[in-house]
Amino acid sequence: MRSIVWFRRDLRRDDHPALAAAAARGPVLGLFVVDPVLAAPVGPTRGRYLSEALAALDASSGHHLVIRVGDPAEVLIAVARETGADAVYATAETTPRGRARDAAVADALARAAIAWRPHSTPYVVEPGTLRQRDGRPYRVFGAYARAWAERAASVPGPVPTPPVTWVRAPGEVPAVVGDVVGTRRPAHFGGLPDAPAPARPPAGEDAAREALLAFAGRAEGYGAVRDDLGRDATSRLSPHLHVGALHPRTVLAALDAAGQVAPEFRRQLVWREFYADVLWHEPRSAWHDLRGAGAPPPDRDGAALARFSRWARGDTGLPLVDAGMRQLLAEGWMPNRARLVCASFLVKHLHVDWRWGASWFLWRLVDGDVASNQHGWQWVAGTGTDAAPYHRIFNPVRQAERFDPDGAYTRRHLPERYRPGGVVPAPMVDLAAERREALARAAMARGAR
Ligand SMILES: Cc1cc2nc3c(=O)[nH]c(=O)nc-3n(C[C@H](O)[C@H](O)[C@H](O)COP(=O)(O)OP(=O)(O)OC[C@H]3O[C@@H](n4cnc5c(N)ncnc54)[C@H](O)[C@@H]3O)c2cc1C
Repeated sequence: MRSIVWFRRDLRRDDHPALAAAAARGPVLGLFVVDPVLAAPVGPTRGRYLSEALAALDASSGHHLVIRVGDPAEVLIAVARETGADAVYATAETTPRGRARDAAVADALARAAIAWRPHSTPYVVEPGTLRQRDGRPYRVFGAYARAWAERAASVPGPVPTPPVTWVRAPGEVPAVVGDVVGTRRPAHFGGLPDAPAPARPPAGEDAAREALLAFAGRAEGYGAVRDDLGRDATSRLSPHLHVGALHPRTVLAALDAAGQVAPEFRRQLVWREFYADVLWHEPRSAWHDLRGAGAPPPDRDGAALARFSRWARGDTGLPLVDAGMRQLLAEGWMPNRARLVCASFLVKHLHVDWRWGASWFLWRLVDGDVASNQHGWQWVAGTGTDAAPYHRIFNPVRQAERFDPDGAYTRRHLPERYRPGGVVPAPMVDLAAERREALARAAMARGAR
């Protein structure tokens, strides 16, 4: 029996339950559908990275991957008819739009008498399946992490790479992903640079495997160095996890095999699962405050736009913020500490709406992920899952002293500041005054409740 494997956030062959199930049944047609609706808000950097990940998957399937543009249900039914496939296998989606799309596709396939076979998700523990004793979803990370550990202990391990008999659709002309992405560029980006980040991380399952093996050997020391910006010591697995060149199950199994307990690292992977779970229960939290009441109203006027634009260009005069924002432009990636400091500066010192910052990150990051990004931003803005939201204001100068003490990170990403005779710009705002302003706004918002 012929099956379609519809690839989405699972661009790999290894540890892929849907692919393994389809391959056990008979020949497989690997398909990626560029859905114009989902592709519209994908920026050029993430679009390019996705193309590279797809090219790697195509190569690893002996150049059998079929890429089509269009409404997924229509494309799937058309490809099934062309090739005689009677079932569609996929890794289940968990984001609000992904779930709505899967529900619509399942209906359309049922009407066309084609079987819909979702298997697993891009997470170790399926989002939406853990609940507190009283049935409510988790909102606090620590409690979620405990429940997650209990459940994860009974989750089956990685699925071996199956032998696959690939088939191709006749007369296939590959679609170009870059032609479809980025058609919905938010107006507040104005004239901000749009060229794809030139120093993007490598894409594809082989690159992911290499990064994982390199990291597995040093994971035990991760806790001590993860925030050391100069050492660049984190795993850099996020782009691979985002496109699914790696499954987190595989990552955990590799750590076990390398004899690395690495609790701090495992904890970070659980943050990824926690945010996916929060978003699953609260789809609106992608763009609306999770905890709206008591949050100070952010600025969205012309002056805020000018401040946002300087921030996004890495032109704030705060070296750590500018280094982070320049790294984002150059690589489409930033370490977590830099993301925290840059996001906090925009929201707490420039008083700009977190949604503007989140949209810029999502547009530029190769790992731009609606759950981790939006909830990372909401955590910083104090509207999300942080238990002590409004008083946490990262001072970018203190943060640089603590996490980039010799300036190695800042020098790497902001070299012009350190050239002999280089201009050292003044900070665009007075940090102490804006901190007071942020606290006053928060107090006023709380008083108004
Ligand atoms: C404002 C803001 C925006 C963010 N946007 C994204 C995003 O769009 N996509 C994304 O994958 N991560 C995002 N993060 C989380 C985190 O910054 C990145 O996952 C991490 O920097 C990726 O680098 P790494 O793979 O070397 O991480 P490591 O430190 O090696 O961690 C391993 C993995 O754990 C997960 N992880 C680590 N930290 C977090 C976290 N705080 N929240 C959720 N998952 C985490 C990631 O999958 C990461 O690859 C954001 C964080 C903040 C504060």
